[in-house]
Amino acid sequence: MKAVALVPRKPDSLYLGELPMPSIDDVPEGRGVLVNVLRVGLCGTDREIQAGEYGAPPPGYDFLVLGHESFGVVERVGSKVTGVVPGDYVVARVRRPGNSPYDAIGMQDMSTDDEYQEHGINRLHGFFTESYVDVPEFLTKIPASLRDIGVLTEPMTVVEKGVSQAYEIQRRLRIWSPKVAAVLGAGTIGLLAALLLRLRGLDVVTISREEGPYLNSDLVEALGARYVSTRKMSLAEAETVHGPFDLIFEATGFSPLVFEAMQALGKNGVLVMASVTGGGRMVEVPADAINLGFVLGNKVAVGTVNAAGEHYRAAAQDMALAEAMFPGWLSRLLTHRVQGLDNYRQAFDLLAGHDQAIKVSIEVAPFS
Ligand code: BGC
Repeated sequence: MKAVALVPRKPDSLYLGELPMPSIDDVPEGRGVLVNVLRVGLCGTDREIQAGEYGAPPPGYDFLVLGHESFGVVERVGSKVTGVVPGDYVVARVRRPGNSPYDAIGMQDMSTDDEYQEHGINRLHGFFTESYVDVPEFLTKIPASLRDIGVLTEPMTVVEKGVSQAYEIQRRLRIWSPKVAAVLGAGTIGLLAALLLRLRGLDVVTISREEGPYLNSDLVEALGARYVSTRKMSLAEAETVHGPFDLIFEATGFSPLVFEAMQALGKNGVLVMASVTGGGRMVEVPADAINLGFVLGNKVAVGTVNAAGEHYRAAAQDMALAEAMFPGWLSRLLTHRVQGLDNYRQAFDLLAGHDQAIKVSIEVAPFS
């Protein structure tokens, strides 16, 4: 079967390779689930891996099959499989257990291992292929009514984890009741963060570079949130006008903004940092002022990566809620749908250069 692969740390080494067809018997004791891939989404992490900045092949391989944002349909299950049946739509978890105590209790998203294992990113082949075999524990069922937007589940899990971390941390405040959130960035993660925070009832200000109106600012406004371009108003000014910000979700991919966000965060506020920045950027920051603001304001900054099983289930539920509250909104994020694995280059070109692209996905196989 076909698979889109590359040689990690070697820029622009993408190619369409061949892999043996997997079988449910690849997993012992009748626990295998064969899944046919229907859709795969691409994101900035794929772009970084393609640029040679990130990622590693599985042990014993010199190549890595890409693809971590998957959506598929169960084709066949082993005799001991429970919980999924052929015909179920599923999304596979990205990170898999390593050796730390967190991994041992199903919290591999919190792993303290030096090397983590993530499908399509680090040391495990991804889903940019026709089929894969997994065990049921790492598959989350997605209702058929969500199949057109099911490929957005994985990015939604990343947002679910970030927001739930913020709420978990803020239990320290006993009566925390956030009113206003700022979301930095209006790409897929920023837009999904704005959605989730609106679903939680917060006022949301999305702050991003582009000047509106354009699709992303329209999407923000369709949620009843506010869109602010940094070309018109700095983050600090936005805070004066729209703040104080109880929660800031940073998803621009531009690390210097994290330090501005630390300053714009309100007292007792929480800053969620979700950008994976593989580069080596350096900046000068007002260290005393940031430190003083954090100390005197009891502020928290938290980094968040990946997601656990509970966040996959929450993502499926919140996507269903989003369809009820903002019908059709999620599908507007799927701006570029490329047909077939053979056209993978087109998908990566869109990812690299198309300004209007929010989510680029590949339709690997049609819905039957
Ligand atoms: C993926 C996460 C992953 C992270 C770090 C993100 O693009 O969505 O699942 O944990 O990259 O590798």
